[in-house]
Amino acid sequence: MPKWGKYKKLYRKEWETDPELKSWIAPAPADDSKARCRYCNVELRAHLNDLREHGATKKHKARCQPSVKSFAVPTGSGAGATIKDDQKRRELRVATYVACHTSINAVDDLSDILQDEMGAFKMHRTKCTAVITSVLAPHFREELREDIGESPYSLYLDESTDVSVNKLLCICVKYRSQKHGKFVSTYLGLVNLLSADACGISDATVTFLGEFGLDIKNMVGIATDGASEFATHSTSLLTKQCNCSQAAWNT
Ligand SMILES: [Zn+2]
Repeated sequence: MPKWGKYKKLYRKEWETDPELKSWIAPAPADDSKARCRYCNVELRAHLNDLREHGATKKHKARCQPSVKSFAVPTGSGAGATIKDDQKRRELRVATYVACHTSINAVDDLSDILQDEMGAFKMHRTKCTAVITSVLAPHFREELREDIGESPYSLYLDESTDVSVNKLLCICVKYRSQKHGKFVSTYLGLVNLLSADACGISDATVTFLGEFGLDIKNMVGIATDGASEFATHSTSLLTKQCNCSQAAWNT
């Protein structure tokens, strides 16, 4: 046996910072004598020459080339979709799943599992939070606003206090959905309250509706629990709504 044959070569962490390898190399799960290519999803011997050879193959280059060029370009779908487009789609779907069904802390482990199983997937809490707040939330808010349109709607209001003792107002809406062809009750928003009295709640609601793009004239009802400030608040808000409607009738 040649003398180098008896040394088992192992995966080396410093390859992950090597300019030639870092964009695609990852450790192979459960085998430290192998490395994995994230793009081709294959396992390779942890020999530097083997890795360099793999990096030079046409197949590998074809798989990782479009990703570098396409990231700044808007995503498309169909035949022209690139690896990065697929990756963005996966990230958006996973972020939507997390937002709907689980705690954001779960995404760290979920991301690691998906990366091992599918390759080329990495999204931890920070990125997932950014995707939810900066991409998904504005999209679904706009979709909801368009669906409510100029239809009459009712509000459900409830007041709460969070762990840092901030007063919050939760607003839900019920309306006849054009998209689904039925009545829908859904979450509309959470508003910070400067003061939790009737006037503060009323002002916060009116401001929120204005920012959301909903016309207060189309509001036909308010549902609240029995708290006294809500009873006064509902009267105050309905008075505002009536005044707006009256003004609209007079013009
Ligand atoms: Zn490869």
